[in-house]
Amino acid sequence: MTMRTIDRMKAGFRSFKAAYYDQRPERVAHLVESGQEPEVLLIACSDSRADPAILMNAEPGDMFIVRNVANLIPPYQPDDQYHGTSAALEYGVRDLKVRDVVILGHSGCGGIQALVQGAIGGVTAPDREFIGPWMEIASCCSGHGPDVDAVSRQSVRNSLTNLLTFPFVKSGVESGYLQIHGWWFDMKEGALWRYVEENDRFEKVEG
Ligand SMILES: [Zn+2]
Repeated sequence: MTMRTIDRMKAGFRSFKAAYYDQRPERVAHLVESGQEPEVLLIACSDSRADPAILMNAEPGDMFIVRNVANLIPPYQPDDQYHGTSAALEYGVRDLKVRDVVILGHSGCGGIQALVQGAIGGVTAPDREFIGPWMEIASCCSGHGPDVDAVSRQSVRNSLTNLLTFPFVKSGVESGYLQIHGWWFDMKEGALWRYVEENDRFEKVEG
């Protein structure tokens, strides 16, 4: 009988503890005593196949990570609604003072797929309560369909634009303290792409 994922997770935690608490206790002690000082804030999709810590071979303390459906940055909209992504962005940039913000898109994104289907059929995920309104953030990108991956890359560009509507991001970029990056993971090819503003296109970084 194969072991269920939930049980493998417990064994996984034992491996993690051995790798850090047993083999690198000074690293753990530093993170506990000094608090976190990540240089990078990364926004990734919730997709189980695109875990940024695994993809980037990151360590505890490296990245302040926000994951949501389709790695979207909403526009700056200070009101009485619940803004989880904007709150994380605010904390990461204003309090943790990260130096880089990375938006990491990926191929075969289910959220973008729903958006593209909605553009064809009229409404995104009509029988769901939250996905449709959330994906509205990227609705301007659906015209780049029906190629889901093309819409996904366009959505990364749209999120970069939305990032700059946050005053604290804009001022950070203008002062040169903060850099923003649009990355895209091609799962099939095992390649990483980045958006190059000067050329207005994605160029391959690795893979
Ligand atoms: Zn996705």
